[in-house]
Amino acid sequence: MRYISTRGQAPALNFEDVLLAGLASDGGLYVPESLPRFTLEEIGSWAGLSYPELAFRVMRPFVAGSIADADFRRILEETYATGPQGVFAHSAVAPLRQLGGNEWVMELFHGPTLAFKDFALQLLGRLLDHVLAKRGERVVIIGATSGDTGSAAIEGCRRCDNVDIFILHPHQRVSEVQRRQMTSVFGDNIHNIAIEGNFDDCQEMVKASFADQSFLKGTRLVAVNSINWARIMAQIVYYFHAALQLGAPARSVAFSVPTGNFGDIFAGYLARNMGLPINQLIVATNRNDILHRFMSGNRYVKETLHPTLSPSMDIMVSSNFERLLFDLHGRSGAAIAGLMDTFRQGGGFSVEEARWTESRRLFDSLAVTDQETCETIAEVYRDCGEVLDPHTAIGVRAARACRRHGATPMVILGTAHPVKFPDAVRQAGVGRALDLPAHLTDLLQRDERCTVLPNSLEAVQAFVAQHGNRGKPL
Ligand SMILES: *Cc1c(COP(=O)(O)O)cnc(C)c1O
Repeated sequence: MRYISTRGQAPALNFEDVLLAGLASDGGLYVPESLPRFTLEEIGSWAGLSYPELAFRVMRPFVAGSIADADFRRILEETYATGPQGVFAHSAVAPLRQLGGNEWVMELFHGPTLAFKDFALQLLGRLLDHVLAKRGERVVIIGATSGDTGSAAIEGCRRCDNVDIFILHPHQRVSEVQRRQMTSVFGDNIHNIAIEGNFDDCQEMVKASFADQSFLKGTRLVAVNSINWARIMAQIVYYFHAALQLGAPARSVAFSVPTGNFGDIFAGYLARNMGLPINQLIVATNRNDILHRFMSGNRYVKETLHPTLSPSMDIMVSSNFERLLFDLHGRSGAAIAGLMDTFRQGGGFSVEEARWTESRRLFDSLAVTDQETCETIAEVYRDCGEVLDPHTAIGVRAARACRRHGATPMVILGTAHPVKFPDAVRQAGVGRALDLPAHLTDLLQRDERCTVLPNSLEAVQAFVAQHGNRGKPL
């Protein structure tokens, strides 16, 4: 499989190189040159497969030519293993739980860090290590996090022999559970840095480090945010997994997806283009609603950031939306480069009416306020006894408001475990105390390891150079 840039000016890469690449050299994002397409019969024959075996069938075409079948199968068996020594705590990996009439939550929070990002980052870490061992190379990962990504990336890379990972978080500005999920993981190759600044400061440092990598003395820098193609790829699988359990491909399925950077829902869009009968995708956002404004009014314009009860969706710009725009524009790199230029210069844009209408055949959207989020948590708790996390609650709210066909099963992506967001749950009036899952019961007693650094790019880069080779200098 070959991958091309959404802006049309970067060289095409194979899977191995795309795994190790960040942005394309022209500033675009990599996408497959052509999507694999499965027949309904083939998809139907996958009913009842284990999660890792289904993952193998769905993703095999994307890694073809770079990773041998036997290696890929073994990596997937490890990644999606369940049971006491496994990675995922639920035997179904991504179980469905019925909420209401023909309405289901797909629980994607049974991984080590209790959010859906484990599905992609557990695989990414293993794929990186496999490819790097083969090449005899090491890489450095630098990522910024305001919460879920950092811990999922650290858990995904903790056993990698060939990866050193540096995660920047804003000092004293992440929740205690989220901080401890990062800082209580020890290893020579794991480095937590608390920056005396805010999340944007952290993100700027990561961007600047990608732009000028001389401080790394030749070691390659790898991106683990959702622009990395392998993360999107891993997320396609669970759309197939859920739909097959609900009667697909004989029947269509709809999904509602709590959305920030548009990575997770873009995976659903790809699943549909690969042949899975999905007849509606709902973009569920919080007050940071750039995507809802596009879907409802064909305007894509940046606005100021509002902190909400669903912090993992607090974004101003949705980086992966460019991948959808590329398809909507007949895969013209020139068109996307033009749109993104306009956007970067501070302007918003609209797309041609026909292209927008085309996107609306599949997508609907809703923006949900904090108050509505709390109402939905309370309502679902009252009606079903289920405690939702605030991100999932936004998905449920949007599913109920935007649903087109009552006869089509509606699946809401349950993106995080409620125990990660106790304030929102309390604010919703849910009295029940939530317990940390068994593997995290002692989280609040564990030792922590973290380095506090000033808000200075030089200080961060010097630290990376000093520790980037399993704690030793590069
Ligand atoms: C990252 C995240 C999201 C948003 O996913 P995107 O792929 O960025 O759209 C939603 N909910 C939770 C809990 C997350 O961690």
